[in-house]
Amino acid sequence: MTDIWSEALQGLQPRLGAQTYDLWLRPIALRAVNGTRLHLTAPNRFMKEWFENHYLGVVLDELRARTAQTYDVEIEVTADAPAAPTSLPTPMPPPATEPVRPTSPPVPVLVAAPPPQLSGRYRFPNFIKGAGNELAASAAWAAAHEPGTRFNPLFIYGGVGLGKTHLLHAIGHHIHATRPEQRIVYQSAERFMNEFIAAVRFNQFDEFRSRYRDQCDVLLIDDIQFIAGRDRTMDEFFHVFNVLYEAEKQIVVTADRMPSEMQGMEDRLISRLNWGLVADIKPPDLETRVAILRQKAEHDHIAIADDVTLHLATIVRSNVRELEGSLVRVSTLAALKHVPITCEFVSDVLGAPAGNAQPPPVSIESVQKVVCAHFSVRISDLKGPRRHQGISRPRMIAMYLCRQLTSASFPEIGLRFGGKDHSTVINACKRIESIQTDDRELRATVDTLRRQLTGAESTRTAVHTGSGGATITAPGAVL
Ligand code: ADP
Ligand code: MG
Repeated sequence: MTDIWSEALQGLQPRLGAQTYDLWLRPIALRAVNGTRLHLTAPNRFMKEWFENHYLGVVLDELRARTAQTYDVEIEVTADAPAAPTSLPTPMPPPATEPVRPTSPPVPVLVAAPPPQLSGRYRFPNFIKGAGNELAASAAWAAAHEPGTRFNPLFIYGGVGLGKTHLLHAIGHHIHATRPEQRIVYQSAERFMNEFIAAVRFNQFDEFRSRYRDQCDVLLIDDIQFIAGRDRTMDEFFHVFNVLYEAEKQIVVTADRMPSEMQGMEDRLISRLNWGLVADIKPPDLETRVAILRQKAEHDHIAIADDVTLHLATIVRSNVRELEGSLVRVSTLAALKHVPITCEFVSDVLGAPAGNAQPPPVSIESVQKVVCAHFSVRISDLKGPRRHQGISRPRMIAMYLCRQLTSASFPEIGLRFGGKDHSTVINACKRIESIQTDDRELRATVDTLRRQLTGAESTRTAVHTGSGGATITAPGAVL
């Protein structure tokens, strides 16, 4: 049975990708078989839940296909001991004689107190999970739960106001609360650079180095894109990264885009940032926006009815920061004018629902449908592995249009095209872009399809449904 189990998992590898296989399937082991019941083990609760929610179904299907037998499973967590000693050396508090730094920037290394920059508001319990951030939030939670082990480095990227900083702080809070001895360094990349420059200038390089390399158990760096193109800072960060990574210290980095899209970032740094788990955050869907508004209203004691919350969430769709800002604006004005917060009031303050002014977003499904109809190919072909031109050309065009017209990331597009790697999508987009420059016919086709997708209401009805979950690929790729 063990053989069939590993064969089934390996059989899924081409479909799910080698990285997904390595990350999520391989750690799940078959321990025993009792009739049709499989006893599995997972290295921790997070892996167990992730496996159950995302892969168990396909694995059971695969087993059924191979053995003509239906199995059920029981998964046991083998090593989820909280705060178990890891291979890290026992962290030591900074020596009592640590020199006081003359420039006194906020020294982010602490033993007993949380890093001062961490905002008390940004914690896991008040981070609302939704389709757009599920993976990043789960990975952040896992990194906070088991720092320095599976998700290292963790790279979280996404547009402005989508919760990257919130998650980074939440990781810091959680690690501090559960492992108070761990020295957590939280810093924006901009501050990291400024400190580095000051250290070089004032001849305090040893201190700088010691702070980031020797006295750091957890490094949280926000907005790393800031150091792209700053050669010496990149170089220094590269060395900090290597030292901490080799010592199995947890590193979490955020950015506004994926590593390979950061112009001016050194290749070797991009490759390091891709080593662990790369998770993207996309704008929240309507349900998540409503949940975030409810939480914020409750926290700030703002009285707002459910239908008005929904109305507000429909109008403001760009990002969470704006969403929260709009709620504050509306409630402040309502209080000043002594009027209740109604839908009309919200519309007056914020303008008409965006849905009336701008077309609803295009979904990956609608792109696939329109492209398939145009080229008379089947959706299953688009998602399948066949490479002959009659199929690969429409597939590349569809991927290109998905990237242009939806907010989906490269990895998500890959996933929704039958589990292809994100590099395949990137290449497809590049190819179509370059062919279009010379090939007028292709350009016209792409334009027609684009018009069809952005102009025709009927193709957009199934917006963002049926994705079946988060964006999944794995280390080395982007989640
Ligand atoms: P980013 O760093 O991605 O620009 P932030 O982390 O600063 O965004 O988030 C902007 C604001 O939105 C913060 O107040 C944060 O608490 C809030 N926020 C973002 N995502 C969520 C979420 N999923 N649940 C609750 N609050 C959120
Ligand atoms: Mg931020």
